[in-house]
Amino acid sequence: MTVRLVGFDGDDTLWFHEDIFVAAQEEITSIISRYVSDLRWAEAFSEIEVRNLRYYGYGVKSFILSAIETSVTVARESITAADIARFIEISKRMIRKEVFVIDGTIEAINAIKVNYMIGLITKGDIIEQHSKLDASGLIEVFDVIEIVRQKDAGSYRGVLKKFNLSAHEFVMVGNSVKSDIDPVLEIGAWAIHIPTKLIWEHENAPPPLHHERYRQAPNIEAVPEIIRAINN
Ligand SMILES: [Mg+2]
Repeated sequence: MTVRLVGFDGDDTLWFHEDIFVAAQEEITSIISRYVSDLRWAEAFSEIEVRNLRYYGYGVKSFILSAIETSVTVARESITAADIARFIEISKRMIRKEVFVIDGTIEAINAIKVNYMIGLITKGDIIEQHSKLDASGLIEVFDVIEIVRQKDAGSYRGVLKKFNLSAHEFVMVGNSVKSDIDPVLEIGAWAIHIPTKLIWEHENAPPPLHHERYRQAPNIEAVPEIIRAINN
């Protein structure tokens, strides 16, 4: 068993992410509560956000376009231009927000880097992901950077093919079962799951605890040792 590439998810694996969306959601909900109930808003927004992924993908721009569409849908003519402008201001603030790298990340990556290629495999808007990567100060540590449209079995196969790797030579580390774990196990590779408290409802899924190539880590600091054990 020889692992060659260790791939890391970015959002909420290397740096904090979901908290920014939760805070923005709260701010938007307080603006929209003048027009509709929180429940009506939450249901409509959730549906429109998912429907729009195929048009706009993931990220802040997609999020805010869905919020605008939802507000126009549920508040009809009454939503004011001033409130729409506040939504747009919120989105710009989200993008400008400082990137906080999760404790222990640099040490863990440096420990793994001694023996393996390190990759960032993240999905979402290219501009947003690149600016987060720049702000994180982590760009230099990666041998491979892949920003994919969707994290499914096909896109992981594509990454392996590009670097001429077999599935058993690849370990993916991430917080989302749907994006970082299930499709990786499906192609025959290894997956290390670092569960996080905050996770986008549409990314949430039960972890495949009994899968032979599934490992769970309490935090990123535990990952080097798990990889060592996989490789033995
Ligand atoms: Mg993530």
